[in-house]
Amino acid sequence: MSEAVLSIEGLTAGYDRAAVIRDLDITVGPGEVVALLGSNGAGKTTTLRVISGLVRPMSGRVVFDGEDVARVSPTQRARRGIAHVPEGRGIFYGLTVAEHFGLGYRGGRPDEEAAYEYFPKLAELRTRRVGLLSGGEQQMLAIARGLARRPRLLLLDELSLGLAPVIVEGLLPVVHKYALDSGCGVLLVEQHIQLALEIADRGYVLSHGEIVLSDRAEVLQGDRELLISSYLGEQQVPIGETSTGRIASPTDSGRQ
Ligand code: ATP
Repeated sequence: MSEAVLSIEGLTAGYDRAAVIRDLDITVGPGEVVALLGSNGAGKTTTLRVISGLVRPMSGRVVFDGEDVARVSPTQRARRGIAHVPEGRGIFYGLTVAEHFGLGYRGGRPDEEAAYEYFPKLAELRTRRVGLLSGGEQQMLAIARGLARRPRLLLLDELSLGLAPVIVEGLLPVVHKYALDSGCGVLLVEQHIQLALEIADRGYVLSHGEIVLSDRAEVLQGDRELLISSYLGEQQVPIGETSTGRIASPTDSGRQ
């Protein structure tokens, strides 16, 4: 893998001085899709917020394109190429599809037409108010706004929220294709393990704020039992080598 687009090292962060993620190490390479998995409250959203600058780390580093961005504002991070598609989509029901592409940009004009190439359905809907779109179409728009910025790193939080799996199955391959075409790294937070691992290259499982498992997606898919137990944080995962390869679980016993 050439130099990582994102490398977070020893990252600890939380709210009101209480850490909710601890000592995380995560990398995302160019053109790579990495799934960040884990149950409710595991710390996935918090991890994305630290990377985009919305939450300050207590310790550790967030290295983006070779530079520690700890002191760079969220706006500057967005300008430098970090696009964050938040849980809940961040869209406005009263505006049209096309109007969304112009929102919040002080830098160069986003590439709306390139985004439509990945989501042709949206091009047909460009004059439609977003409140009239289906949930799947709204999620397409949320992703398309991210792509239109031509990011180097795309952070996607729970694409599947409120959507039928069949809709998500249609969206995720588009994300994968975009990563391959553009060289953009993607960090994908998902609760639907299976859907995420089908398009991811690698995955990390978070439990109670710590990484308990990380491996290539096909290896994680191949050991469902271990994956599920790590995911739910309900079992002490043995340290060492198993059929799944690398296991990182030194402190999984620390359930809250
Ligand atoms: P979910 O899928 O439910 O959002 P998650 O893995 O994304 O889960 P986070 O949203 O990162 O988890 O939350 C991790 C922990 O941090 C939870 O215990 C949550 O209650 C807490 N938390 C999240 N946001 C805040 C906040 N703004 N202030 C205080 N605590 C928060």
